[in-house]
Amino acid sequence: MRDIKYQQILDEIKGRVEPLYGRGQVADYIPELRKVKPHQFAMCLTCVNDKAQYSTGCAEKPFSIQSISKVFALILAASKIGERVYQRVGIEPSGDPFNSLVQLEHEQGFPRNPLINAGALVVSDILISCLDDPKTQLLDFVRRLANNSKINFDASVTDSEKKTGFRNYAMAYFLKSFERIENCVDDVLDLYFHQCSLSMSCSDLSYAFLVLANRGVIMHSGDKILTPSQSKRINSIMQTCGFYDQAGEFTFRVGLPGKSGVGGGIAAIKPDEFSIAVWSPELNKHGNSVLGMHALEHFTTATGKSIF
Ligand code: GLN
Repeated sequence: MRDIKYQQILDEIKGRVEPLYGRGQVADYIPELRKVKPHQFAMCLTCVNDKAQYSTGCAEKPFSIQSISKVFALILAASKIGERVYQRVGIEPSGDPFNSLVQLEHEQGFPRNPLINAGALVVSDILISCLDDPKTQLLDFVRRLANNSKINFDASVTDSEKKTGFRNYAMAYFLKSFERIENCVDDVLDLYFHQCSLSMSCSDLSYAFLVLANRGVIMHSGDKILTPSQSKRINSIMQTCGFYDQAGEFTFRVGLPGKSGVGGGIAAIKPDEFSIAVWSPELNKHGNSVLGMHALEHFTTATGKSIF
């Protein structure tokens, strides 16, 4: 098969998506995110076979990963308690916005999946129950996946969300009323707000997601984090649930399992081949990066590397 000129393709994609600046809006419901300069773009690809990295734009610049962190929390929870995670959260797409409360009432507080806020709060609860120091251990885990000990929580983003995340407070108490949360609600929210405030670059994210492209094994250390089956399950959940009420469109246009965050990041993988991260802060009405979606669509079209 012909060699794919990844660097050239990424640079071309940057040129193609930059005219789309201004088509979305930076998340403003978390005050600290409102301060981010909107017209920024970065993309980074890491290949499984030779660990080669290709990037374009400001790929070393850290940003708030927000809901992309739900994947890290899920990997950690699955590595600790295995299949029992899926007794606490479902595996079906919600078709609703990430912070919707509606379904929960009808479904007795059982979250549709671990990648919407309700499900992520239950995963936080699982981590609190099975780890001695969940915040530190989650941070260490992400640093280990990304092979970067400098990754940290952004305290100003954590505080900003603590002051304004009323819907998440409502949701956590609602879950508690259905006895879906075992621990103290404040501790669950504290862990959740911290994980959302993790600050990482596209290069970090692309490297960290490689574990899901490599059947659960960390590439640089050879550490087995998940079984191939556990890794497959998380990828399938990303495919069907990673983009909330735009999961179908992401699958249709891009065709990779992935996860977005309201910081404007998206990480996606192709099993056995690569992981890719993209960032641009302006969001569409579903809370997904406008340029990020277009960039990934161009990428899988230009390379022919979607999973379909
Ligand atoms: N911290 C954000 C929230 O809970 C995460 C949302 C997202 O990235 N979709 O509202």
